[in-house]
Amino acid sequence: MLTNAKLVHQPHDHERCISAALSRAKALCAEQNVRLTTTRELVLRLLWQSHQPLGAYQLQDQLAEHINKPVAPPTVYRALEFLLRLGLIHRIPSLNAYIGCPFPNNEHSNLFMICNQCGTAAEVADKAVNKLLQCVSDRSHFTLQSQSLELFGLCPQCSNITEAPGYD
Ligand SMILES: [Zn+2]
Ligand SMILES: [Zn+2]
Ligand SMILES: [Zn+2]
Repeated sequence: MLTNAKLVHQPHDHERCISAALSRAKALCAEQNVRLTTTRELVLRLLWQSHQPLGAYQLQDQLAEHINKPVAPPTVYRALEFLLRLGLIHRIPSLNAYIGCPFPNNEHSNLFMICNQCGTAAEVADKAVNKLLQCVSDRSHFTLQSQSLELFGLCPQCSNITEAPGYD
């Protein structure tokens, strides 16, 4: 099983997450012989500024703020499409928002654990989950082509706060 849940749901050195994500992106682009342009890199950086998914409009605003000039929606969508195609980011359908992928080029389940309180989203890839869904689909004579699983609840940090108000 691959997951970044432990990290995401705890205070951690997030600068390391960002730099790791960017070096993964650079390596992947070099490998695929595609260019991580300034805009693409900036969008990826913005998506990695936290572990909370961002919508395209938020990205557009933040990008405009960053480069100090208005940004047209297609600029954002083109960058997102590029990053999605390389598997560097994911779109979480129910939130209509995007998040950086912590393990591009690995087995995926498209499973996200999203905290209702703080909004962080952790990604999980689990062969057993995929197998189960394949099995269920097979038994229903359903040809499974893609999947997206979004679990909503409380991250460990937020559930601690809820269970023990007033205590540290
Ligand atoms: Zn982080
Ligand atoms: Zn991923
Ligand atoms: Zn939380």
